[in-house]
Amino acid sequence: MRTVLGCIADDFTGATDLAGLLARSGVRVSLRVGVPETPPRNPAAFEVIALKCRTAPVEAAVAETRSALAWLREAGAERFFWKYCSTFDSTAEGNIGPVAEALMADLGTEQTIYCPAFPENGRAIFMGNLFVGRDPLAESPMKDHPLTPMRDSNLMRLLEPQVTKPVGLVDRLMVARGADAVRTALIRLRVGGVAHVVMDAVANEDLSTIAEACRDMPLMTGGSAVAMPLPALYLADGTLGRDAAKTTSPQIAPGTVVLSGSCSAMTNAQVAAYLASGAPGFKLDPTALAENGIEEALAWVGAQDFKAGPLIYATADPQAVKFAQDQLGVARAGEVVEDALARCAIVAREQGARRFVVAGGETSGAVTQALGVDQLDIGTEIAPGVPWTFATSAGHRIALTLKSGNFGAEGFFSDAQAVLEAA
Ligand code: ADP
Repeated sequence: MRTVLGCIADDFTGATDLAGLLARSGVRVSLRVGVPETPPRNPAAFEVIALKCRTAPVEAAVAETRSALAWLREAGAERFFWKYCSTFDSTAEGNIGPVAEALMADLGTEQTIYCPAFPENGRAIFMGNLFVGRDPLAESPMKDHPLTPMRDSNLMRLLEPQVTKPVGLVDRLMVARGADAVRTALIRLRVGGVAHVVMDAVANEDLSTIAEACRDMPLMTGGSAVAMPLPALYLADGTLGRDAAKTTSPQIAPGTVVLSGSCSAMTNAQVAAYLASGAPGFKLDPTALAENGIEEALAWVGAQDFKAGPLIYATADPQAVKFAQDQLGVARAGEVVEDALARCAIVAREQGARRFVVAGGETSGAVTQALGVDQLDIGTEIAPGVPWTFATSAGHRIALTLKSGNFGAEGFFSDAQAVLEAA
């Protein structure tokens, strides 16, 4: 089997979100945690490499994504997808634009598209402006994100300082005219020297049009949703054989732990709902962790009955996050929390937990790394863009779900456990 589409995601939850949507097609999707050290053996039709480079220094992010690209090319891929968050999480320096330009240079391609829209999760782009539900991005809770506060809603304006070549737009009116019109618009922009094209999309039909128009581009970039139509398109035109391997759902032993390091508005609601349902919970306070260490948290985890799905969380409201960041600095506050949740995950596994529900992109990266997971097979979806995945950790088969901050409904932590029971 040769890889048909090689994907690179800038964080773990982004990678599982993308992998989950691709797996809706029923075709086997494999997710690698970091660039594998060994050359590809039996690669899946869709390979997703999860990096942890959303907030890394630009040079490091570029180097990592280029090495991921090289591995995916070895797996046989000729088309590539650079996946970032549907809220375009980035700073003025990057890393969305600089990585796209580096990948374009390696692939020798002159143009790519940017489409973070995810209508099922309320992310829409109109006239180049990104909306979260009914709010412009810069008026959404993303304005208070701990690491990448988004203070502008216009994707062209956000992208311009990140790239060296001109930025343009294919607007909703053009997308509504169909795939041929979009192709023509892209050619016209390319002739005019526009390398980076933001694509408007407000509904799944827009994404289908864009995917159809762009499916043979060497590089597409965006949120996960614009990639969702690709498997069906590749099956229809024979790029992907009908005999391509299918997804599977293995049986996993019971025992659940919920680890939450996301401070998004939705995760705050999910934590509150889960605690209100009577689940046992332990709150991590970054300042106390930095001062007193994590022994108390580890002892609490060690004493839990994992049948009850205990929750360990640092999830807090923007005011509390700001307080911790003022005390410790942004990076240090993030680190102490990520480290604590990662070590709680190890203790939970040692005490018999086999099902891990994790909230937060950076948090998921830290937890998977601590569990020594380097490859995941994608299974059933719990909420749009959040699947269960299956992996091996210290010789045990485990199930993991890695939820990006704003994803899932309020009942997500319970929903996830119910979905796995039913699988
Ligand atoms: P999301 O998917 O919502 O962006 P992430 O896990 O990627 O979630 O990012 C949240 C960041 O905030 C992590 O680095 C985490 O360690 C940090 N964090 C979590 N809780 C707190 C807190 N109470 N105070 C400060 N930072 C926190």
